[in-house]
Parts: sequence; C-alpha cells; structure tokens
Amino acid sequence: MNILVSACLMAVPCRYDGSGYEPPQITELKKHHRLIPFCPEVAAGLSVPRMPNEILNGRVITKDGTDLTASFDEGAQKTLEAALKNDCTIAILKQRSPSCGYGQIYDGTFSGKLITGNGITAQLLHDHTITVISEYEINDFINSKE
Ligand code: SF4
Repeated sequence: MNILVSACLMAVPCRYDGSGYEPPQITELKKHHRLIPFCPEVAAGLSVPRMPNEILNGRVITKDGTDLTASFDEGAQKTLEAALKNDCTIAILKQRSPSCGYGQIYDGTFSGKLITGNGITAQLLHDHTITVISEYEINDFINSKE
C-alpha cells in the first residue's frame, strides 16, 4: 500500500521550529508499506524555520498577523497532487498542525487551546476521499491491518 505521510513524521526537519521525528509506529509501517513523505508548507515555499501559524475564521494567520492562507491552499493542492500521483488512498498526518491536523487544531489565538477541526491539507485530502489518519490513530491503523 502507498501511504502519504507528513514529512515531519519521517524525521524530515521541516516543522516551523526546524524539528522532525519518526515515531516507532512509522518505522514499523515502513517495513510493509511504501511511505511517501510530503510537507505541504515546504512545498508551498515557506521557510524552515518559520513563524507558527493557526487557523482563525477560516484564514491561516501567522503569530505576527500575516495572512498566509494562499500559501497553505497551495501546499494543500500540491499534497493532493502528490497523493494522487503516487496512488495513495491513505494519508497519515501530524496532529494539530494548521496544514496536517485532523480532528483537532489550535483555535487561532496562539494560547494552546484546541478545538475540533482540520488543517487545510487534511481537509482537502478528506474532501477527495483520501482516508486521513491522524498521528494519534496510527496504532489503530496498524492493528486493523493485522
Ligand atoms: Fe509536518 Fe505538515 Fe507541518 Fe509540514 S506542514 S511540518 S508535514 S505538520
């Protein structure tokens, strides 16, 4: 199976703070599936490191108030294209990110408060019938395949 994965979950140092790591479950999945790492924000040309961003009223805003919605939309579109090109029907995405978060994201106030919602990329993949699995659900996914 081909699975698109948030690049920062495959130890690519592409997060806003320049970090990335690989959880052991991803290492396990690699033994049985072809994982395709992809970072929507880097694909949209955003720098590493970069200002943190959150979604507020449907717009993606940096902590200093810059509206980067267009870049996040571009990154989401490029991620969808990568998923389709690689025949990925599943995407495993990093929790809480304004791009990759699925089910829970920050509320846009940069106060650490979480709300129900999806990142821009996660929502676009979901809308195109790609099954999105959050970082929290990897164990359930592995167990369902055994
Ligand atoms: Fe990771 Fe997604 Fe953020 Fe890129 S956009 S650093 S892949 S969570």
